[in-house]
This record gives sequence, C-alpha cells and structure tokens, in this order.
Amino acid sequence: MADNLVRTIAKEAGVRALLAVTTGLAAEAAGRHQTAPTATAALARALTGAALLGATLKVQQRVALKFEGSGPLWKVVTEADAYGRVRGYVARPETDLPARLDGHDVAAALGAGVLTVVKDLRIKELYESSVPLLSGEIDADLTHYLSQSEQIPSLVTVGVELDESGRVAHAGGLLLQAIPPYEETHIRQLVERLAEMPPVVSLLAAGQTPGEILDNLFGEVAYTVLEERSLTFYCNCSWERTRRALLLLGREEIEEMLVSEGQAELTCHFCHHKYHFSRADLEEILNEQS
Ligand code: ZN
Repeated sequence: MADNLVRTIAKEAGVRALLAVTTGLAAEAAGRHQTAPTATAALARALTGAALLGATLKVQQRVALKFEGSGPLWKVVTEADAYGRVRGYVARPETDLPARLDGHDVAAALGAGVLTVVKDLRIKELYESSVPLLSGEIDADLTHYLSQSEQIPSLVTVGVELDESGRVAHAGGLLLQAIPPYEETHIRQLVERLAEMPPVVSLLAAGQTPGEILDNLFGEVAYTVLEERSLTFYCNCSWERTRRALLLLGREEIEEMLVSEGQAELTCHFCHHKYHFSRADLEEILNEQS
C-alpha cells in the first residue's frame, strides 16, 4: 500500500481523525540514514508524527519536531509540510537497544529530555513551544504537547513493525483531535474504542485499509472523509542552498577547507545527500565574502 494520509471529520461528535500510512517514507529514511533497529523505530515514529501534524497545517506552512534526550540516540528531528512531504534524521543512527516485550525501546534510546515543536505558519515569527518528554515513546509525547501547549484534547498513536532483517515492514499512525464545541463524552468514547483496538500499525500489517480502520474506530458515529493525499519522503536541499550555507561560514573555515582538503563535501542532515565543492567553488565563495 502506498503511503497516504486520510483526513476525516465527525462534525456532530466534534472530532477529527487523521490516519497516516508511512511505511515507504520510513523505509526510505531508514535506508538513507542506515539506522539500526531502535533508531529506525524512533525515526519512523517521529516521521509519522510529523506527517500527522503536517496534515493539520494550511498551505505553505511547515512543522518541525525535535525530540532531544539524555539517552544514546540523543536527538530525532523530523519535518513535514502541508503537502505531505516529510523528512527527518536521528543524531546517532547506530543506536540499538534490546527490544522490550511490547516493542522497540525508543523511550530508553531517547531518555529524559524535551520535545520542541517549531511551526512556520507563514507569519513573521516562527511559533516555537517546548514540553518535557513525557515518556520518550514519541506518540505519548506528541499527545502531551498538543494537550498542553496547544490546549486541544488530542490523542496521537504511531507505530512501526520491522521485519527480521530490521527493515521497516509497516509504519503508520493516527491523530484524534477534538474540535470545539465538542462533547466530552463523544471524545471519551472514541478514545476508549481506540484503546481497545489493536495498534494501527498491527491493523495495517494485517491488511486492513485506512478506510476499514476508520470505520472500525468511528463505529456508529457519522464521519466524512475530507481528503486523501499521498505522503512522501522529500528533502528540499540542493547544491545552491548548501552553497548559501557555506557563504554564511567564516572566512577562516573556508580557508581551512582549502588548505586541508582542497575541496569540501557537505552532507545534508535530513536526506544524507552529499554535495561536492571544488577548489574553484570554494575560492569563488571566498571572493564573494570579501
Ligand atoms: Zn537533503
């Protein structure tokens, strides 16, 4: 099944539900960053979280999630836009911890720390808000963030299943969010039903479609599908953008590159693409700086 996102609303119940299938983009990110299983699980969960939050944005807006902790993984950074384009990386892709009975130990890999959410809402200032990591499981932290910082009763659940060789077999998640004016009881019923259901990723692995999962979740509650869109791993880096970043470096750093290597190779954090700068390129940058 191709990666996609289904956005629904149950108007009378005062709730919306977004369901994301992210297997392909999570597998691509893991491949690009050569992540070990625990790091793969953390990255896949955070990419799914970004895709879900990204789908709540308006055109041209962007969201970035930064999970930073004291554990061996140190950092997971993911970004998404309103068009379903998602990218991300982990600070230490080699991180691998013994799995727990209920799955990968992303919480221990992250440790205690902070979740920072930055939104580019296309107004002058970036919106930025931080909350302490509640569990380090990614979805519980996003739930906590949405309820605390944005004051919207919400529930985020994300998950990933890896195959025997540690590759992403299935990834996906769901965001349930109240829309004012909402009825407390309706929300509670849906949250309870979701808690009784197997994890979304297990249902996807069992071959259920997003439509079937949503039908199951809403039950008797009437809902409308507002939109279905594809999700992709996409990085907007380029040689030109990398060059602009080099232009912002100090002269000494460029001179140092020229002396030590005679060239430079810069790797994009988000997609691992390598950009090469020859001696002539670096000399031209120095000229432009002066
Ligand atoms: Zn890139």
